[in-house]
Amino acid sequence: MKVAKFGGSSVRDAQAMGRCMSIIENDPSIKLVVVSATYNSTNELEKLAIAARDRDEAFLKENLKLFLQKHLDIASNLKIEKSLHSAIDQLINELSEELKQISQLGLLSPQAMDSLYSYGERISSWLFAEGFKSRGRKELQLIDARDVITTDNTHNSAKPIIEQIRINAQEKISPLIKTHLIITQGFIGKTEQGATTVLGREGSDFSATLFGEAIGADVVQIWTDVPGVATADPRLVKEARYLSELSYEEATTMASLGAKVLYSKTLEPAERSGIKVFVGSSIQPELGGTYITSTPSSDSADIIGLTFKKRGDESVITFIGKDLRKIDLEIPEVDRGDIHRSFLVDTSQLDQLLIDWHQRFFQK
Ligand code: ADP
Ligand code: ASP
Ligand code: MG
Repeated sequence: MKVAKFGGSSVRDAQAMGRCMSIIENDPSIKLVVVSATYNSTNELEKLAIAARDRDEAFLKENLKLFLQKHLDIASNLKIEKSLHSAIDQLINELSEELKQISQLGLLSPQAMDSLYSYGERISSWLFAEGFKSRGRKELQLIDARDVITTDNTHNSAKPIIEQIRINAQEKISPLIKTHLIITQGFIGKTEQGATTVLGREGSDFSATLFGEAIGADVVQIWTDVPGVATADPRLVKEARYLSELSYEEATTMASLGAKVLYSKTLEPAERSGIKVFVGSSIQPELGGTYITSTPSSDSADIIGLTFKKRGDESVITFIGKDLRKIDLEIPEVDRGDIHRSFLVDTSQLDQLLIDWHQRFFQK
């Protein structure tokens, strides 16, 4: 049984959502689908929230309209019946009401922000489910992730309560999953008292493995805009090479030290429950991707990856690998572990250093 998660760029418009639906149609072992908000929507919700707090009426009016229109366009292009589009209007009206309350208070609490965040994933998952139905998929059920992902009340980066999630999944998902494809949201959860929470920005990957663990999946697929985890961010380092295999430890180290392709906590449930995690491109699924498992990567290279974190004028570049002894750099080493070594660099030199070091240490 597989869980498939589709990130923001994978569901950015009707055509992109269609590619995700083809992936699902081609693999009947995908039983549960986790979707992110459409591309950039979470950032847009943050901007709306700040405008509400600052009572910037003109910005709110204009951008709420654009937010609504963008999603109505996707609904039309997915050929979702017009009579159903009122569901989107309703969600946007609710969102608008919450923004009004923030304006009245002149205050944006972390709790209020979490509630606002939820609209991104709630709208995209509704579009995905209805769009899939209009494409002919019959046995399909949209469920609210908040009814399954119970968390503590640390708003903006809530901690999941694993035992409760398992119980919820038994109750809400098990009765349906044999006969229905389940569609749900990434990122969002709910406290035991009923308040909406989120797992942290970029946290939908983590939702996917939490769902995978709760339903006993053996594979979780993270579908994004690149065909796997690469030796370095392929956006900056054109020569970066995609890795066919990684261990949980290697992938977690890369994610927590800067590789944006995976949220850092994603591998926790996977490792705990022995779930294989696949990372691939929804744009070009035929390219394959990276498999993350308990077995160390079979890649023979000693140095596996290069990550970075920007921190103002200074940045940290980290090498990840099995044997990093041959890395000899005349600059401050700021951290070192069993499989990583981190170096402090000038942010103005970051991009060039990534390219240079990749060439120097990764060329076979
Ligand atoms: P999604 O919206 O699907 O969650 P993200 O933007 O969070 O996608 O992650 C994908 C992006 O991660 C890629 O476009 C790529 O630029 C970036 N990235 C950073 N480091 C790496 C890496 N080592 N391997 C692959 N992608 C990486
Ligand atoms: N939509 C959320 C974000 O952009 C979660 C995610 O996509 O992973 O942070
Ligand atoms: Mg992501």
